[in-house]
Amino acid sequence: MKIIENSIFPVGKKNDAFADYFVGQSYLAMLSTEQVAIGNVTFEPGCRNNWHIHHAKSGGGQILLVTAGRGYYQEFGKKPMEIHAGDVINIPANVKHWHGAAPDSWFQHLAIEVPAVEGQTQWCEPVSDEEYRALK
Ligand code: MN
Repeated sequence: MKIIENSIFPVGKKNDAFADYFVGQSYLAMLSTEQVAIGNVTFEPGCRNNWHIHHAKSGGGQILLVTAGRGYYQEFGKKPMEIHAGDVINIPANVKHWHGAAPDSWFQHLAIEVPAVEGQTQWCEPVSDEEYRALK
């Protein structure tokens, strides 16, 4: 079964390791585990991750390179931003946010872990259905 059109990188396996922190099904392929960690994350329509924070003492944060589909990125206290293939999102360290698919579209991004001093990700509450349902 082809789960997403035009994936130039491997989609990988069901993202079971992080399933507790996602609503819906996602897939993960680690493309690089040396120097800079880069994962290819694919979200089925309606799938999104929980609010989370990439903590770091210095450096850190995450860069998303959107490679397919339509989705959203939202920082806490700000409006959700609709994002598409070709968009680049710089997520600063220590900012609460979520990212995921639109309700009716597959979505895929490369997630680049910016090297950090004392980096760790804190997973928080899910994006509420009420907030998510308000998205197109
Ligand atoms: Mn993130």
